[in-house]
Amino acid sequence: MKFELVQLPYAADALEPVISKQTIEFHHGKHLQTYVNNLNNLVPGTKFEAADLETIIKESDGAIFNNAGQILNHNLYFLQFSPTGGGKPDGQLAKAIDATWGSFENFQKEFETAGTGLFGSGWVWLAADNDGKLSILKEPNAGNPLTKGLKPLLTFDVWEHAYYLDFQNRRADQLKSLWNIVDWKVVESRY
Ligand code: MN
Repeated sequence: MKFELVQLPYAADALEPVISKQTIEFHHGKHLQTYVNNLNNLVPGTKFEAADLETIIKESDGAIFNNAGQILNHNLYFLQFSPTGGGKPDGQLAKAIDATWGSFENFQKEFETAGTGLFGSGWVWLAADNDGKLSILKEPNAGNPLTKGLKPLLTFDVWEHAYYLDFQNRRADQLKSLWNIVDWKVVESRY
């Protein structure tokens, strides 16, 4: 299977000032493109030649896992944002968040704390199990809830390349700012 760079459903400058055009151009156009190129170079001749990203992530390790994980993680990340995003989730997801963390605001606080507390590079996730039970996960490097049998719903990238051009070392400020562009309709559709 040949992997392709995901197309963004918005212009490169559409998420400003939360994510600058320059960050989109580097993060999507260069970092993510490199993971796509790497995986396309690594997979031929392996048992993953016909496999999709989810299968590769569940069954691989090493460089193949890292590059496949980074592709799926970034696809989920970029596609969950919209220039008209923000606000709160609705429906079943909103109910489950309230049941788990007491309120949406409490959930946001816990999610931000997980993101700022993740040492080094990685991803903070909202994930669901088969019964719809929610949890927040801190995954290092290319980690994804799929490897724990969980469904990924929402993710914030805490690799420095995600925020350094816009926020320098202020990871917490970037995390707080990302809520303004989350498209909860997309996140709800993953639940
Ligand atoms: Mn990234």
